[in-house]
Amino acid sequence: MKLNDFKIGTQFRLGLGLILVLVVILGAIAWVQSDDLWQQTKGLYEHPHAVRRALGKLEVDVEVMSRQARDLFLVRNEQETMACLQIIEIRKNDAERQMDVLYDRYLGPREDVVALHEDLSKWNVLREETVRLFMVGKTAQAEARIQPGGAQNTQAEAVRSRLQKIDLFAYNKSEEFYRAAEEESLTLKHQMAVVTTIILLLTALVGWLLLKGIKGPITKLAAAAEQFRQGQMDTRCGYVSENELGTLSASFNAMAEAIEMQMRINTNVAQLSDAMLREEEVQAFCRELLKGLLSHTGSQVGAVYFLNDAKTAFEHFESIGLGTGGRTAFAATEREGELGAAVATQRIQHLRDIPADTRFAFPTVSGNFMPREILTIPVLTGQTVTAVISLASVRAYDTASIQVVEEIWSVLTARVNGVLSYRNIQALVEKLEYQNRELNAQKEELAAQAGEMAAQSQELNHQNTELEMQKQELNESNRLKSAFLSNMSHELRTPLNSVIALSGVLNRRLANVIPADEYSYLEVIERNGKHLLSLINDILDLSRIEAGRAEISVSRFSVRELAGELVEMIEPQAVEKRVALLNQVPGDLPLIASDQGKCRHILQNLVGNAVKFTEVGHVTITAEVISGTFRMRVADTGIGIAATHLPHIFDEFRQADDSTSRKYGGTGLGLAIAKKYAVLLGGGITVESRLGEGSTFTLQLPLTLASGPVVEEAREAMGSQATGAVSSLSGQGQSILLVEDNEPAIIQLTDILQAEGYHIMVAHNGQEALRLIEQQVPHAMILDLMMPEVDGFQVLKAIRSVERTAQIPVLILTAKHVTKQDLNFLKGNHIHQLIQKGDINKAGLLAAVARMIAPPSEKPASPPALSPAGGGRRRFARPGKPVVLVVEDHPDNLRTMRALLQEAYTILEATDGQVGVEQARSHQPDLILMDIALPVMDGYQALAVIREDESLRDIPVCAVTASAMKGNREDILARGFDAYISKPI
Ligand code: ADP
Repeated sequence: MKLNDFKIGTQFRLGLGLILVLVVILGAIAWVQSDDLWQQTKGLYEHPHAVRRALGKLEVDVEVMSRQARDLFLVRNEQETMACLQIIEIRKNDAERQMDVLYDRYLGPREDVVALHEDLSKWNVLREETVRLFMVGKTAQAEARIQPGGAQNTQAEAVRSRLQKIDLFAYNKSEEFYRAAEEESLTLKHQMAVVTTIILLLTALVGWLLLKGIKGPITKLAAAAEQFRQGQMDTRCGYVSENELGTLSASFNAMAEAIEMQMRINTNVAQLSDAMLREEEVQAFCRELLKGLLSHTGSQVGAVYFLNDAKTAFEHFESIGLGTGGRTAFAATEREGELGAAVATQRIQHLRDIPADTRFAFPTVSGNFMPREILTIPVLTGQTVTAVISLASVRAYDTASIQVVEEIWSVLTARVNGVLSYRNIQALVEKLEYQNRELNAQKEELAAQAGEMAAQSQELNHQNTELEMQKQELNESNRLKSAFLSNMSHELRTPLNSVIALSGVLNRRLANVIPADEYSYLEVIERNGKHLLSLINDILDLSRIEAGRAEISVSRFSVRELAGELVEMIEPQAVEKRVALLNQVPGDLPLIASDQGKCRHILQNLVGNAVKFTEVGHVTITAEVISGTFRMRVADTGIGIAATHLPHIFDEFRQADDSTSRKYGGTGLGLAIAKKYAVLLGGGITVESRLGEGSTFTLQLPLTLASGPVVEEAREAMGSQATGAVSSLSGQGQSILLVEDNEPAIIQLTDILQAEGYHIMVAHNGQEALRLIEQQVPHAMILDLMMPEVDGFQVLKAIRSVERTAQIPVLILTAKHVTKQDLNFLKGNHIHQLIQKGDINKAGLLAAVARMIAPPSEKPASPPALSPAGGGRRRFARPGKPVVLVVEDHPDNLRTMRALLQEAYTILEATDGQVGVEQARSHQPDLILMDIALPVMDGYQALAVIREDESLRDIPVCAVTASAMKGNREDILARGFDAYISKPI
């Protein structure tokens, strides 16, 4: 393995390790050498140096002792002698110590030291002898010994010479040591210099090697990268090694390789895309596409197959290098083989195991063409494969080729679809062009007809205008029809009332006067008259509904009670026919909030019909509430209705069949009105019936009708319904002018009034009336409004303009529909009362006339007395029944109230507010029941007057009104009424 192959880290570690080893060696050498040096120094110090110091001291000791021995002779006293001896002794001991040093440290021959020691010892003996001699006084002897040549002195010389000899040796020895050390030091320097140099050299070598090992490949890599960047895609880095840089270089090469391949693929894809964009026509496009694909994938065979219109098979469309075998179609359902797999998976298929019988094999001059690999590309339109492109090659496809195919796939799909769409559009364009041509031809033809059409269009416009006019006329006639029906009904009611009234009169007068046979005709006349009246009333109802004038007044009431009332009413007919009439409405049903009058009307019709059309069996009324809806059923066991007639029985004037109408009579309006009312109340009526078995009518109504405020019934206050006679007043001596153009009415009224003792003057028209008044002013007048030439209004105006007649009480009796305008006029000319013909009976008429004529003062009344127990409102303690004043302009209502109340109360009546107030003033009633819509002075004004009047203020006033139901109950109470009762009662 080469050094370069080592990893960079390893190379660094090796170099540094080597340097480290050299440094350690250098250290070791320095260590050993300096230790040697140290030994030299130590030897020098411990031996020659110590020896020479000891020798020095020894020499000093010898000298001091010699001097002291001499000084003995110079001492003057004992003390000094002792001092000298003492010093000698100290020195002697010191000399012994130095001798020990010499023995220990002297490196020369030991004999030298022994000889010195012996000489020194001899000298000591001699000196001590000298001292003894001195001490004993033999001073001269002693002195002689220390003189030159004396024994002691000689010995001293011998010692000194010994000392010098040793000193010389020691000196030589130290010289020897010094030189050795010097030598050692030199060697050390030498060695250090060598080793340091080696280390430096080695470090430089290692550094150079490392630098070379790293910089070289990096430079190569950088150069390669730069060349690559400049576009030389084939540039590769030549550095090969097993270290990191080698890996980097290999990676760079691989990357460059990949990029180069991708570039190649991209170029191929771009060229292919270009080629695909060049052609729009399918055949040319496919040829270009195949050529491109073959050249860019290295294929030898290519083919395009398209899904046929029936979507059953892929048919050969275009190919290059394909044998005839490959041109056959293959089934779209085929899921295997060279092409089927691509259709099935909708992915590109790369086939390597080519079957021997492949469609791409075919004989060539140089033998059989046998592909080694096949690439099949499916083309998708939406979710369906609509085309298949197949390529075959004798060589294995390289990655780049496959990738080219993969990358071009989406573009290819889009383009194939585009080209196919283009083909379709072309076909469409051709078709459109053809159609355009045709259209142009037709246009020209039409242009010719246009002239004709214009004329027709003008005619149509004309017709349209006419139709519009007709429509307006129709609307107008519809409106007129309603108005006509409404007016005519009123007009018809007048003569009819007369017929009924007169036949009633005759009925009473001719009993037992004419033969029974003829007498019975009167009943027929009256019955038919009533029938006709009910028909007219029905028509009136219908026209009101159609004109949208039907008003709804909502109140809360019990259906069971309503059914009870109806059963009570119709019972007589049922009993007569022996048909059982059963009210099975449960008692625990909730109250319904709806228009009671209309509900009554509907149910009355249904129950009436049921009884009418039932011969045997029973009629049952039931009711239930299901999820907020009231369901009332009227079931009978009667004749039933044929299925063919069922859909029509609710139509106006429709009856099941003619025979029924002949047998049972009827108008054919009852159900029509009932249904319209039911719809008006937010519900409906349905019917189930079987001919001969019976019928069941079901009325459905919401439990609570949304529109209108719900007015609580004040039944409790009303007591039970009762009939009674009108308070009878004598008309004796009173003259009444009857202005009426209708002869039967004249006869009827005259008949009734004369019977009461009134004197009746008759005027048949306006002029006559005015003439008669001029002659004699009557006590009162009964005035018709609709008369030829001078009508009722003119008469009224004329008499009110003359003072003499201005105060005549006038009662208007008319069959005319009184408009608001009419009413205002009448109010302005203070009429006594307005009565609609047909709305009044004999008793009512007599009561009205009596009230009109009788002056208030003449009315029986006892002055009221205050009740002692009275609190709040005043109470009157009067003998007999309490007095109730009913202020009501409608005679029927008045009559009803009277019928309801008169058993328990004394009733006073007034037909307008003003009269009401006057009545109240003169009679001080216990209670006033006040209608709101009143002539002359309405209920609100009357109440205001009553409340302002000291004497009337405390009388309780209860509003009784139907018109106020559209407003709100609280509103009425807020105006000062003490209570409130809704109509109809
Ligand atoms: P009419 O005044 O003729 O009774 P309606 O509108 O009330 O008019 O009824 C229309 C027709 O429906 C009746 O003529 C009758 O033929 C049929 N009809 C109504 N109710 C019943 C019933 N309960 N049983 C049999 N037929 C009925």
